[in-house]
Amino acid sequence: MQITAAVARQKFDPFTIEQVELTDPRPDELLVRIAASGMCQTDQHGRDGYFNMPLPAVFGHEGAGVVEAVGKSVTEFVPGDHVVMSFPWCGTCANCRRHMESHCQRHRELKMSGTRPDGTTLMSQGGAPIYSAFFQQSSFATHVIANERFTVKVRKDAPLELLGPFACSGQTGAGAVLNSMQPKPGDAFAVFGVGAVGLSGLMAAKIAGCDPIIAVDIHAKRLALARELGATHTIDHTGRADVVAEIRKLTGEGVRFSLETSAQPTVFREAVEALMPAGTCVLLGSARKGTEATFEMPFLQFGRVVRGVIQGESHPQELIPKLVDFLMQGRMPVDRMMTFYPLADINRAAQESNDGTTIKPVLRMP
Ligand SMILES: [Zn+2]
Ligand SMILES: [Zn+2]
Repeated sequence: MQITAAVARQKFDPFTIEQVELTDPRPDELLVRIAASGMCQTDQHGRDGYFNMPLPAVFGHEGAGVVEAVGKSVTEFVPGDHVVMSFPWCGTCANCRRHMESHCQRHRELKMSGTRPDGTTLMSQGGAPIYSAFFQQSSFATHVIANERFTVKVRKDAPLELLGPFACSGQTGAGAVLNSMQPKPGDAFAVFGVGAVGLSGLMAAKIAGCDPIIAVDIHAKRLALARELGATHTIDHTGRADVVAEIRKLTGEGVRFSLETSAQPTVFREAVEALMPAGTCVLLGSARKGTEATFEMPFLQFGRVVRGVIQGESHPQELIPKLVDFLMQGRMPVDRMMTFYPLADINRAAQESNDGTTIKPVLRMP
């Protein structure tokens, strides 16, 4: 069928809105009409060649929509279901066999080859391939083919256009707190960087009962929002070198949990130094290859833990419906960080995300 999609033709060039041909779903696949898709830095990084995904390509990996057709062996979905598409995993590697799907050892090829796992392409134009299947979805399009395994059914009374970002930034931040940290009420928590991932972690920390909840950032506007969403204290990092001292002043010994989302080595170091004994720092910020960070070895004695987490160590079919429930209960008001754009304005969305005007751009499909 003919669909409309935002196509990346050249590294660093603007996306162009084009008509492309989408193939039919296979027996285990769904045809989904996208209502809206969140936009992450990862999409622009993909276009700009960070992951060597071939171009021309369609990106987007935070899609939410309505099932229009199902392949003949699909049993869990019917047309009309509301769905969010999550990240893919292989199901057979050593980590997948331990149900650590977010740490799938084939995650990169499944997310960024531009094809189905067997190498076939889903989109084309005049017979020439348009690479897609980004995170096995490519949601910057009116319609996508999605595999039922990575698709999550969500309640129909939830506003669909708010749900796509739960697939990546939402479960990355909230999952890091709820799955990886598992804080107890009263645990001190600090988040470094309150973009979409950091704010999702912050809201989850509030749901878990953390106190105090300290937000650190360089944008006054984001810190104000962090306070509205549950931060008990905010620290504007701009021009100050005593952020760790400030956190110690607020907490005594430091925080039980810190969440690093900035991908800046000096900030990562602060997130580690802000820990109390036996505290845990979770690194979410994705730094470029070759970036190094330092901290003092003695500091890791006394049980301090530093670890990286991806996709919130989520089991999407469990976590995403839970996050949608939090949204509907008013406990995770993700709409507060979103700005909506029509798909045709995707380049403005990218620009306003890069310059910090927008925390989480969401593209509405025509
Ligand atoms: Zn795997
Ligand atoms: Zn993402």
